[in-house]
Amino acid sequence: MKNGVLIQYFEWNLPNDGLLWRQLKEDAKHLSEIGISAVWIPPAYKADEQQDEGYATYDLYDFGEFDQKGTVRTKYGTRGELEEAIKALHDVGINVYLDAVLNHKAGGDYAEKFKAVPINEEDRNRTLGEPMEIQAMTGYNFEGRGDTYSDFKWHWYHFSGTDYDSVADRHDIFRIIGPGKGWSQGVDKEKGNYDYLLANDIDLDNPEVVAELNRWGRWAASEFGFDGYRMDAIKHMDRNFTSQFVDEVRKERGEDFFFVAEYWNGDMDSLMEFSEAIGNKISLFDVPLHYNFFAASQQGKDYDLSCLLENTLLSRDSRLSVTFVDNHDSQPDSSLESNVADWFKPMAYGLILLMREGYPAIFYGDYYSMKREGSPHRLILDELLVARQKYAYGDQDLYFDHPSTVGLVRHGDADHAGSGLVFLMSNDEDGSKEMSLGPLRAGETWHEITGSIPEEIVLDENGTAVFTVKGRNLAVWVKKE
Ligand code: CA
Repeated sequence: MKNGVLIQYFEWNLPNDGLLWRQLKEDAKHLSEIGISAVWIPPAYKADEQQDEGYATYDLYDFGEFDQKGTVRTKYGTRGELEEAIKALHDVGINVYLDAVLNHKAGGDYAEKFKAVPINEEDRNRTLGEPMEIQAMTGYNFEGRGDTYSDFKWHWYHFSGTDYDSVADRHDIFRIIGPGKGWSQGVDKEKGNYDYLLANDIDLDNPEVVAELNRWGRWAASEFGFDGYRMDAIKHMDRNFTSQFVDEVRKERGEDFFFVAEYWNGDMDSLMEFSEAIGNKISLFDVPLHYNFFAASQQGKDYDLSCLLENTLLSRDSRLSVTFVDNHDSQPDSSLESNVADWFKPMAYGLILLMREGYPAIFYGDYYSMKREGSPHRLILDELLVARQKYAYGDQDLYFDHPSTVGLVRHGDADHAGSGLVFLMSNDEDGSKEMSLGPLRAGETWHEITGSIPEEIVLDENGTAVFTVKGRNLAVWVKKE
């Protein structure tokens, strides 16, 4: 079986040139050659303005097809160009996962008046006064699209919160009042109740809304042939909705339709509570592992690397873990900025790409460019991607037994001739570790393939050797061909 790798094919500061889908199409063959098995594409439907990254979602059915919000194309291109990119990826065996933003909508078409109550920002269960009539942009009629694909029109009662009252010119979080309305209970407990994130918060307890979003989920998956969804802002959405949405889409597209949830919380208990509540049926980004990488990169040699995998999805239930180093939210100047420092990135990527557990994701910003500056990590990523495809197979022994030098052994398997590897990383001085491949490997000559150590090593009669790594670096040792 092939070792899968996901690539997040965008970063926060891409130019608004409408060229991403065309670039992706041209890049499909190369992505296949470096071992990419799936591409996560950004929200591909119309946002409140052309330059938006897609998370200020306006119309889920407009993938750059209709003249709405002053533009036909999105930041990334037109629907036709997207379809060409998807076809090119499918032609080389790469899956496509769409970023699904179902928590909120922005860019309403017209104002509506309704009752709402202002809410304390830090404790969402506390009101800041009495219910009042407010006016906000909660009406959506999608004039450019009309009833194509869906005749559903959104109104204030399909939302549970908003952030601006144009009567009083007041910016605040407002909880919308009406029969059966209120914050969803199946959301993260941060701030008391973290249902509300931004813009017009979708009321996922409203049966009309649930039916419409399910319809969209089935429609988009089939219309474009998507192979999975990356679920945005999941901790702000009712988990009962998420659970049944997954079931609905899989009923339409099959049980192997892939889901990965962005549940942005470094606390393992919160992640597992969510995962267990929905029956552990979708993957999650390993946010706690990202925070461990971030802490290790900040603390330098003071970080105890033997703890690097502790309190992560990888160690709790690795089948659920989509491992990553950084993404569009953690990159510099983004909302959840916690960028892993450059010196540590090769080590972090080495670990997630070579270890047995987890479904690794690489970030556009780390492979190609961020803010149009070429990434310094592409060369090592190319080497690690090759190593993942050639050597990262078979049983694994972890050597997380030292504060500054840790690593692992992959023993290889019969399906991949010459496979097996030794991975080491150090956050201090040059390090070494006695590691064993077993007596069947006695006498083999091994060498380091990232170019950091020129000397070769011969395994002794037990298949053991003292493998070395340079300070603040990684080493990948394999059998010399
Ligand atoms: Ca919400």
